[in-house]
Amino acid sequence: MNSDDARMQRFTVSLRGPRTVYGQGVAASELSTELNLLGASRVVLFASERERKAREAVIEPILGRTVGHVSNVRRHVPVAVAREATDLARRLEADCLVSLGGGSTVGTAKAVALETGLPIIALPTTYAGSDFTPVYGLSDGGAKRTGRSDLVLPRTVLLDPTLTWTLPLDLTKYSAINALAHCVSGVFADGRSPITDLLAAEGARLLARGLRDVADSAEDRAAQACLTQGSYLAGTVLAHAGTSAHHTICHILGGAFDLPHAETHAAVLPAATAFLQEQQPGSAEPLMLALGGPDLAATLAGLFAEVGAAPRLRDLGLAHVDVQRATELLTDRGLHGDIPGLSEARASQLLAEAW
Ligand code: NAD
Repeated sequence: MNSDDARMQRFTVSLRGPRTVYGQGVAASELSTELNLLGASRVVLFASERERKAREAVIEPILGRTVGHVSNVRRHVPVAVAREATDLARRLEADCLVSLGGGSTVGTAKAVALETGLPIIALPTTYAGSDFTPVYGLSDGGAKRTGRSDLVLPRTVLLDPTLTWTLPLDLTKYSAINALAHCVSGVFADGRSPITDLLAAEGARLLARGLRDVADSAEDRAAQACLTQGSYLAGTVLAHAGTSAHHTICHILGGAFDLPHAETHAAVLPAATAFLQEQQPGSAEPLMLALGGPDLAATLAGLFAEVGAAPRLRDLGLAHVDVQRATELLTDRGLHGDIPGLSEARASQLLAEAW
């Protein structure tokens, strides 16, 4: 289906996101005001020790109404960590959760909001985009489960690009690629519409521009602003369109072989996009118009190489002996309909391209 055909189709969309205040310095200047708007006086702050020390100016205005602090922030939000934080918020009779950090930090606050219904004010420090979604994830042992609930969608986001200025360059690039992956996955997703395609296209354009510019000059503030606004659009695409085979593949590989989250997106995205383009010819068109080039997979591979963020799965810890097992895992999910159209031969080809 080309984009004109897609535009003829019926769709339903209900865009809903957090109240978002964007600007340099808004984290420090607007947090008290936003707490007042929610009528909040007993805050539990979610931030790693590092964030808390580094962001004294942000936290200082709300210290008087901060009753507790959760610094035990871990990747994939282990259920034990979530339970401990929920108990703390209940014991302290908190009326608001403030998250200052990346996807793992707001993920921990979301786990508490899911149980308590408390509102979240989020101050993102990376480009992961989780602050704009009603999606949560919890891990127990090796298993990770995700779900959706309006309870976990932050009420307010203070989107302050200065909070990302301290990200090391590698983290900046991979976090931006993680956001770009939301835009790419979104145009192939079941929940996509011409409206989410528009958000994905503009998000991808901002993210690609920001990536190129930070790769040239790590302290390019305009580039970091592009990445910050791109992450907002990417998170909004994820929230409304959902994801597609790319995310399923990253989830399977990351879970089974303990691969790093953001880098795995960079390694898999071009190969997964090539597969998705075969399955849904035409769906990539909005992104091709935004990013240029006749083939989205090749454009992405070229962009990642240009900015020095093109790892292979073998660089991330997937041993050659594990590739066969990975092929079986992907094929199995293909057979069960989780990755429609993925045969064993195609899974093997996809992994060969990404490995
Ligand atoms: P993260 O929160 O795990 O942070 C990565 C590292 O960067 C940490 O060591 C952190 O301390 C550090 N860091 C964060 N901000 C920094 C800054 N400004 N300066 C210096 N260091 C900083 O990483 P992430 O990529 O933000 O989040 C990844 C997690 O988010 C994954 O678990 C992923 O599954 C989840 N996620 C969820 C959604 C959703 O909608 N639920 C969307 C995207 C990602």
